Amino acid sequence: MSSSTDPTSAAYAQAVKELGLKKNIAKALEIPDRELTVEIPFRRDNGEIESVVGFRVQHNNTRGPFKGGIRYHEHVDIDEVRSLATLMTWKTSLLDIPYGGGKGGIGVDPRNYSKTELERMSRRFFRAIDPIIGINVDIPAPDVNTNAQVMSWFMDEYSQLHGYSPAIVTGKPLELGGSAGREAATGKGTAVITRETAKKWNIELKNAKVVIQGFGNVGSYAAKFLHEYGCKVIAVSDVTGGLYDPDGLDIDSLFEYNSANKTIDGFDQGKKVTNDELLALECDFLIPAALGSAINEKNVDSLNCKVIVEAANGPVTGSAANKLWDKKIAIIPDILTNAGGVTVSYFEWVQNLQQFKWTENDVNQKLEDKMVNAFNEVYEVKKSKQVPMRIASFMVAIDRVHVAYNLREG
Ligand code: GLU
Repeated sequence: MSSSTDPTSAAYAQAVKELGLKKNIAKALEIPDRELTVEIPFRRDNGEIESVVGFRVQHNNTRGPFKGGIRYHEHVDIDEVRSLATLMTWKTSLLDIPYGGGKGGIGVDPRNYSKTELERMSRRFFRAIDPIIGINVDIPAPDVNTNAQVMSWFMDEYSQLHGYSPAIVTGKPLELGGSAGREAATGKGTAVITRETAKKWNIELKNAKVVIQGFGNVGSYAAKFLHEYGCKVIAVSDVTGGLYDPDGLDIDSLFEYNSANKTIDGFDQGKKVTNDELLALECDFLIPAALGSAINEKNVDSLNCKVIVEAANGPVTGSAANKLWDKKIAIIPDILTNAGGVTVSYFEWVQNLQQFKWTENDVNQKLEDKMVNAFNEVYEVKKSKQVPMRIASFMVAIDRVHVAYNLREG
């Protein structure tokens, strides 16, 4: 992401201005604490050695250990990881959980590798970043194309070096110290934020028309919970394309179909639509839950929704966001919408440190409280300062880090 398309840098600059932060402090909070680039050599199944590049960026740990996921994607580079690490600092601060921000990734398309190759690559990557991580230092988690299995390999690799250490990563399987509710958490948080938005924007939640781009971990669970709330999910998509039914898709069956087949392709309901057609559908809530920059200069004029709820990280570019503000289409930003994932990651880490398991009910209730409190806090700032939700979110988040920074730097 270049700075002109990166929504983070523009929002940061505006929020800093609104807060009246001094230039030296604004600069101090923007520069990442540490960036690590590593070579990851691993053996292919045919016996050949291959090397790929991995990254871990630690943006800020003023309020607690660095925290953030690791993604496997061919677009991963140091600029993208830096930008996503920065988002994590603001996300953890906004939810008021005691973490800073970090992010990591490997620049590969995981579909090109077998499971055993991915295991060797993952283990080698974790060894390579071992010098800078720790249960009170930096705690990785899943992100795009990584999952509980990858976290198990990470946890095992770290535990071989340091002794049994489930708290070194979150998003683990339940059997290895994972938390009830973690898998569904980002989608659930997205649904909660959509529900709260509906109240403030005077949109009737029952039968509200929802379009979701992306049906991975985040999009599929968001669809499931919004469907439970009574919304009409009229279209969803994945990498193979979209499905549209103006009367609402049968989300329970689609969720099951997708869990079994790892794609929505071949599901027997709905008309096939392209990604561009899907984004242009008339709806109340458009939920981009796939990759960054999905809504950009090229397609922003075609949108026909009342509110965009950013379930992915950085799905609306800075210039598209400006246009949407002029058109009075609200954007509920990523650092608020998708914070359910890292919030339950925090609960998982706390359970690991306490060596005590919470029930799914405990987790979900605490998640609800955290999300609703953060939403209301942001909404108050939006109203009192007359700024977009993204700027209000950044203002709350930056201010909290700034206060802690001042206390520590004396
Ligand atoms: N990758 C998720 C995010 O972007 C979760 C991070 C975490 O749980 O640490 O928020």
